[in-house]
Amino acid sequence: MSYEIKGLNEECGIFGVFGVPEASKLTYFGLHSLQHRGQEGAGIVSSDGEKLYQYRNRGLLAEVFADENDLNRLTGTAAIGHVRYGTSGNNSIANVQPFLFRFHDGDIALAHNGNLTNAQTLKCELEDKGAVFQSTSDTEILIHLIRQKKNLGFIDALKASLNEVKGGFAFLLLRKDCLVAALDPNGFRPMSIGQFDNGAYVVVSETCALDVVGAKFVRDVFPGELVIIDKNGLRIDHYTTDTKLAICSMEYIYFARPDSIIHGVTVHNARKKMGRLLAKEQPAPTADMVIGVPNSSLSAASGYAEEAGLPYEMGLIKNQYIARTFIQPTQELRERGVKMKLSAVRGVVEGKSVVVVDDSIVRGTTSKQLVQLLRDAGAKEVHMRIASPPLKFPCFYGIDMSTRAELMAANHSVADMCKIIGADTLGFLSIPSLITAISVPDAGNAPNGGLTVAYFDGKYPTPLYDYEEGYLKSLKQTQIQEG
Ligand code: AMP
Repeated sequence: MSYEIKGLNEECGIFGVFGVPEASKLTYFGLHSLQHRGQEGAGIVSSDGEKLYQYRNRGLLAEVFADENDLNRLTGTAAIGHVRYGTSGNNSIANVQPFLFRFHDGDIALAHNGNLTNAQTLKCELEDKGAVFQSTSDTEILIHLIRQKKNLGFIDALKASLNEVKGGFAFLLLRKDCLVAALDPNGFRPMSIGQFDNGAYVVVSETCALDVVGAKFVRDVFPGELVIIDKNGLRIDHYTTDTKLAICSMEYIYFARPDSIIHGVTVHNARKKMGRLLAKEQPAPTADMVIGVPNSSLSAASGYAEEAGLPYEMGLIKNQYIARTFIQPTQELRERGVKMKLSAVRGVVEGKSVVVVDDSIVRGTTSKQLVQLLRDAGAKEVHMRIASPPLKFPCFYGIDMSTRAELMAANHSVADMCKIIGADTLGFLSIPSLITAISVPDAGNAPNGGLTVAYFDGKYPTPLYDYEEGYLKSLKQTQIQEG
């Protein structure tokens, strides 16, 4: 097998609601709380029971809907929305979701969070049968599959199509008279159902989006489920029962908001426990204080500090107005990005031995810059502690990660990494402790406590289809990167 390609570029947030007045406005508010899942593009499609209306563009949600008329035009009592995280070069408006497909027998809108692992194969097959794709995203594939089977009726065609696509997917589909949600057989991506006091339902990527719109949590969507919401209420169906929970551990480590609850686990609590276990496994006996890297590592750092009995200090400040550095196209831009984003507080760290807790090391850019920042601010010793295991393998299920060639831990020992980033010591959380820290109650006897930890051990819970070695050789790498 080979992993020398980019895992993916469809990290996203989705929100859908059915049966409320001004559904698009509610969707707008819901998407705001999912903005951390994607900042490159946003869109909403609404239904007034007769027609579907769409507006989407590149940029942050507030930029996309800066002119409130664009939101006002999206009338109706049902809507789906999407925030998209795209990588450079692949961010044309054609890829901004939700997609809206106009058919003579009824429009369909579609929003997707995840990454399909057999997209290239399906796309080639569909093109050979006459399908024409408008975007380079793999999301459109589902619609073509559904159309080919339209004689089965919508729900059965959808079920059959969901059995053909592989990989990680949380889909929302809107038709004039129903909202449908579907989750992949491993439940890689989170998706939850909420309800309003008037009985109307909402389906969201993360529970933090329920709080903001005033909906109560009902339940998580489980692998293989199809959630159908229409004027008769909500119905749970299945397109497959061949399922095994394997939630992406990166959601808990880095991606999801700390106040979200995924399969019964509050993300902040899981991160804090990762920090506690990290302190046990990787103590720093000479340290004076613990510092978190804002924002994603603050929970883990507080756990480390509590367990180690050290003061938890604010030694790093984040400029909240700088966008993410991770996706900058060149290394030079990434390095400048870290400096613009983070500053060390001299009055806190000068002359001190500090433990810095971060959630992960991908390329090592952040850690290297951080160590330098802290040393420049007078820190005596810098002990880097990472609240997840070394990232050695890409994600193919919907988290944007580097290529294996770029992943620092894939190419260096921990001792080498420590030297490269310039820290005094470096320590990572073990895989068993990661699993213990998260402890998903819904996991039953699923392997790895119901989590995907393939990024650390290379044991992917599914075949990788288009990403397997033989197939790769027959495709241009650029073609796959754009999928
Ligand atoms: P790097 O500087 O390349 O080592 O990236 C590490 C930093 O990126 C960490 O501080 C994380 O908070 C953040 N990070 C980890 N995974 C991702 C991801 N999939 N997308 C964006 N940022 C990430």
